[in-house]
Amino acid sequence: MPAVDTTWSIERARALDDEDALGGIRHRFLRPDGLVYLDGNSLGMLPTGVPEATRRVVEEEWGRALISGWTECGWMEAPERLGDRIAPIIGAGPGEVLVADTTSVALAKLVGAALAARRDRRVVLTSADNFPSDLYAAAGAARLQGAELRVVDRSELPAALDEDVAVCCLTQVDFRTGELHDLPGLTAAAHEVGALALFDLCHSAGALPVGLGEHGVDLAVGCTYKYLNGGPGSPSFLYVREGLQGELENPLPGWLGHETPFDFDRRWRPAEGIRRFLTSTPPILALTALDAALDAFEGVSIDTVRAKSERLGQLFIEVIDDLGPASLTVASPREAARRGSQVSLEHPRAGEVVAAAADKGVVGDFRSPGLCRFGFAPLYLSYAEVFQAAELVSAAATSLSD
Ligand SMILES: *Cc1c(COP(=O)(O)O)cnc(C)c1O
Repeated sequence: MPAVDTTWSIERARALDDEDALGGIRHRFLRPDGLVYLDGNSLGMLPTGVPEATRRVVEEEWGRALISGWTECGWMEAPERLGDRIAPIIGAGPGEVLVADTTSVALAKLVGAALAARRDRRVVLTSADNFPSDLYAAAGAARLQGAELRVVDRSELPAALDEDVAVCCLTQVDFRTGELHDLPGLTAAAHEVGALALFDLCHSAGALPVGLGEHGVDLAVGCTYKYLNGGPGSPSFLYVREGLQGELENPLPGWLGHETPFDFDRRWRPAEGIRRFLTSTPPILALTALDAALDAFEGVSIDTVRAKSERLGQLFIEVIDDLGPASLTVASPREAARRGSQVSLEHPRAGEVVAAAADKGVVGDFRSPGLCRFGFAPLYLSYAEVFQAAELVSAAATSLSD
C-alpha cells in the first residue's frame, strides 16, 4: 500500500480547493481582502446581492409604492415566503416555517404554545449548557403558565424525560464546544413519554442537514444571521410541524396572525396554518436582506455543505495538533459526526490568542472562561484559508505559551 501523506501543507489544502464542489459559491459573498473570517457562526458574511436588493426595495418599493407595497410588492406574504425558502435547508416542508420575531421571542412563543397544548404537564426540560438566552426565555414562558423549567446536565438526557414533561427544549449545537445533541434519538425519546420536542437551530441552519420532517421534530426556532447570512439582527424563523399547527395556539396573538387582520375584529380568530404564529408587522427591510442572502444557497445541497464543513473542521484540528503548543487543546468532539460547524480550542490565555490571531487577519471569537471559538462557513471559506488560519492560531498560542 502506498504511504498516505497525513501532514498538511498549503499545497495539500489548495488541492482540496481545486476539487471543491462549493468553490464556485465563494464569489456569492463580498469577502474583504486579507481576512480569514471564522466567525460566520456569529454573523455571516455579506452576500453580494444584498446591497442592490435593499437599495431597490428602499427606493422603488418603499419610495414609490408606499402603502400599496403591502399588497403590490408581496410584503404581506414575506414571512411565509421566506419561511418556505428556509424550509428545504432544515428539512421542513412548505407551510411549516415562518420568518418572524427574534430567536428568544420565537422560543418563548413556542414553549408557551406547547405548555398550553399539554395542560396536564407542567415541566419544560432543558440542559444546563443550553444558550443562556434560551434558558431565560424558556423559564419566562414557563412561569407565565405556572410551569417550571427543569434544567439538567447534558448527561442526564434522555433519562430526565418523564410524563411531567410537556416539551423538551434543546439547542442542537452547543455554542461553546460545537457538540451535537442526538436530535433523532432525543426526539424519539420525548415522543415516547408523550412530550413535544423543540430544537433551537441557531448553529445548525445552513451548516448541516437537520431533517426536521424526517425525524418528526415538533417545533424549532433559529436565527438567520449566522450561517444563513441574513445580516445583523435579521429576524428568526420558527417551525411548527404541520400536523400540530391546528392544535397549538399562539400565546402572543397579534393582528398579523389573525384570520382577517383588516376586518379589525375584536375577537381573536387565528389564521389557518403557520401564519397564526405571526404577531406583528413584518420588518420588510430586514426580510429583503435575508431574501437576497438566501440566493447564496440556490442550487446548493446541504449535504455538500456538511461534507465540506466536516473536512474544514478536521483540517483545522489536525493542523492545530501538529503545530500548536501543548497548552492549546481541542475542546470540541474530535469526531466530525458529533460536531457542528465549529472547532473550539482551550488555552489559558484564550482571549489573547484570539486577539493575536485577529491582528493577523484571522477572525474567531472568545468565550469565557478559556475558549477560542472558530466557525467554518463552507459557502465562503476555502481549505487554504482554514489551513493558514490554523497555522496562525498555532503560532499565536505558541508565542503566548513561552
Ligand atoms: C445566536 C443565538 C440566539 C440568538 O437569540 P436572539 O434572540 O435572536 O438574539 C439564541 N439562541 C442560540 C442558541 C443562539 O446561538
